[in-house]
Parts: sequence; structure tokens; C-alpha cells
Amino acid sequence: MPEFQTTPGTRDILPPDAARWRAFVDSFARVVESAGYSQIILPMFEDLGVFQRLGDATDVVTKEMYDFVDKGGRHIALRPEQTAGVCRAYVQHHPVVPWKVWYAGPNFRYEKAQQGRYRQFDQVGIEVLGVDDPQLDVEVIALAHDFYRSIGLKNVELHINSLGDTGDRARYVEALASYFHAHETELSEESRITLARNPLRVLDSKRSEDTDVIAQAPSISEFFSPEAAQHFDSVQEGLALLGIDFVVNDRLVRGLDYYRSTTFELVSTALESAQTAVGGGGRYDGLVEDLGGDPTPGIGFAIGLDRTLLACDAEGVFPAPDQGADVFVVDTTGGRAALRMASALRAAGLRAERTYGAKSMKSQMKTANKSRALVAVIIGEDELARGVATVRPMDGGEQSEYSLDAVVATVVDIVKKAK
Ligand code: AMP
Repeated sequence: MPEFQTTPGTRDILPPDAARWRAFVDSFARVVESAGYSQIILPMFEDLGVFQRLGDATDVVTKEMYDFVDKGGRHIALRPEQTAGVCRAYVQHHPVVPWKVWYAGPNFRYEKAQQGRYRQFDQVGIEVLGVDDPQLDVEVIALAHDFYRSIGLKNVELHINSLGDTGDRARYVEALASYFHAHETELSEESRITLARNPLRVLDSKRSEDTDVIAQAPSISEFFSPEAAQHFDSVQEGLALLGIDFVVNDRLVRGLDYYRSTTFELVSTALESAQTAVGGGGRYDGLVEDLGGDPTPGIGFAIGLDRTLLACDAEGVFPAPDQGADVFVVDTTGGRAALRMASALRAAGLRAERTYGAKSMKSQMKTANKSRALVAVIIGEDELARGVATVRPMDGGEQSEYSLDAVVATVVDIVKKAK
């Protein structure tokens, strides 16, 4: 075993998977940019306080933060998610609203590493600040839905809920707390601990001891104000209008404390592991204010890239892009001709490869075959002396000689026709 390996919860994304990751982000960018979102690139670490605003009752903040004091004595944390950073940036730069941004990149949480749950994991996501309109909620949910469709996933279920407005949520939490306290002896030990910190999170428990108590717990819908009920109705109407199927799940409370009103989660029914949530989001009216800004409504979602790709594997969709070469340069004259030819082919936009060091014609052709190049450009002593090269289609088609000047245009033509 080598002395150094990736630490638990981190992975090397090797070729060709890394190209698949990039294609994933590209597909996401296409979908959300079509709806007017612009990319934002946030720092990977911020003052710890930015993330503490996510709430002190979430594991993400209390147990899973990668935080440290830097050499300047600042208490810093690696970002566990990007919504807080977006809101911090909004308060810092006061952009014009509605502010519609998308992001991609890694987040860090000190979790128990397992299949689909890592300590460094990637997300793509969007946030909109400054609009409190249920139609926006519908659009945001529809974009997540459209993105999954765009990469070919079919077995993704949309679960939605509303946590009401701030007052509703507070009254619900109170009612939930007294309900769970009344049934405390029936709860698992873990849930009793959770109850002391945040009664809402008890609803997340998947432990069998808790199932019955949770099933009988009051529902948030009993606490909706007329406005909150109206907002949630409009969201459901809008989704129906767009033909997007959904399930109302009144136990869906989501991990982070800042959620209000509409919340949603996307669950892969193709994944068999314990980790089936491939994305989620909702409204977080209140977070901007907590970060020192004016009261500003916000909504967004994050899609877990690592886990969504596991769902793609399970459904057999979105393979790594084909990265075969377009053209392979074979040079038996020492390599300088290949150096120039490959450079000219690449400048014309082709993916051109070659071998290095003195290799025989046979060995170079073998590598050319492996590269899955469509065309080989062969330069031998005799060709070089005559200022020509042989262009050989790799599918067994007829080869011809071209003057060195004409080779690039010829190859571009052949590749274009083949693709
Ligand atoms: P959250 O930010 O917790 O709402 O998570 C949004 C999505 O990110 C989840 O649905 C997962 O797909 C993904 N995710 C969250 N935590 C992890 C993790 N530790 N490892 C892999 N994916 C994660």
C-alpha cells in the first residue's frame, strides 16, 4: 500500500469520470442559463459566522463543519453548502433584484462517509433573491425537474411541502415539541436527543422505533396561515399546469434551519442505498436578514452531483463523454514532423494525438488504433522528402497522399463528415 491515499470521504475523480463531471455542470449551465441565471463563483471558505447563521440546530453546523483558526487568528470554515455564501455575497455587493445566480463546486461536511455520502462532495444549484411569488417557486422546481430530464434520468420523484411562514413554523415546532414530549418514552434514544435540539428534525428519523409516533404527529398544514396556505396552493397549481408530477409530503422538513414556506426534495427511486435524495431546496426568507441585510425573500435548490451520477449509473444514462481522438499523427522520421503537424491539426480545432520517442510504424499504428482516431496522418522519410503525408481513414477506407499544406483541411473535412 502506498504511504498516502485519499483521506476518508474524499475521492479522486479520474478520467474519464472527470469529463463526465464537467459535462454534468455544462448541462446544468445550459438549463439554468436559458432561464436567465448567471454563474457565481464563491470562496470555498468563509468566516465561520456566515455558516453559523444556517442555524445551530442542524448537524451541518454543529457537528460537521470543517473549521479552523487561520494564521491571522480568523475563525474560518470550509463551506458546507453555498446558499449562505450567496446570501453573504448579496449583502456585501447589493446587486439589483431579482438576483438569479447559479453555482457549481465542492462543499465539505464531516459526515460518516459511505456510498453516496462523502466529506467532499459537489453540488450544482441556483438561488434567486428578492422575489416572493409562488410562480417563482414553480419555475425553480421546474428547472430542477428539467435538468434531471436533460441528463436522461426518469426515476426521480418530486416531494414538496410547505413549512408555512415564520409564525406558522414556530407554532408548529411548539406543538410538535409537546406532542413528542408526551410520547418521549416511545422514541428512540437518538430521537430523544434530537428532540431537545430541534423537534422538527425528529420527523427525519428513519428508525423503526420512531415510525408510529412520527406517523401520528401533527401536520404542519394544520398551522398554515391563510397566506401560507394560499402560497402553497398556488405552487401546486403551477406544477400541475406544467405537467410536473409531485407528492405532497408533510414530513419533509429538510436539514437546514433556514427553510420557510415551500420546500422540496428530489428522490431517486433507482438508488437502492440509504442515500436517495439527489437534490433539494426551498424558500429561505430570513437568511439574508440574519446575515445583516434587509429582509429579502430567497429561494433555491442544490443538486448533489456525486449522488445524481450514481442515479445515472443505476438508470444507465449520462455516460462519460466519448473522448476518442479525431486524428493520430504517425511519424517515423524522428518526431519533428509530428510536432508541427499535431500542432497545426490542434489549431484547427481537432483532437490530435501522437506517440513520443522513437517508435516503429507498427507500434505507432497500434496506439493510433487504441486512440479510436478516425484518421491517421502518416509521415515517413519518403513522404517528408516529397513534402507530402498519407491520410488514412482508420475505418479501412482508401488512403491518399496530400501535400503537407493540404493535410489539415482534408482531415477537418473527413472528421466533420464522420461526426
Ligand atoms: P443539502 O445541502 O443537505 O440540502 O443537500 C442537497 C443535496 O446535496 C442532497 O440531496 C445530496 O444529493 C447532496 N449531498 C448533501 N450532502 C452530501 C454528502 N455528504 N455527500 C454527497 N452528496 C451530498
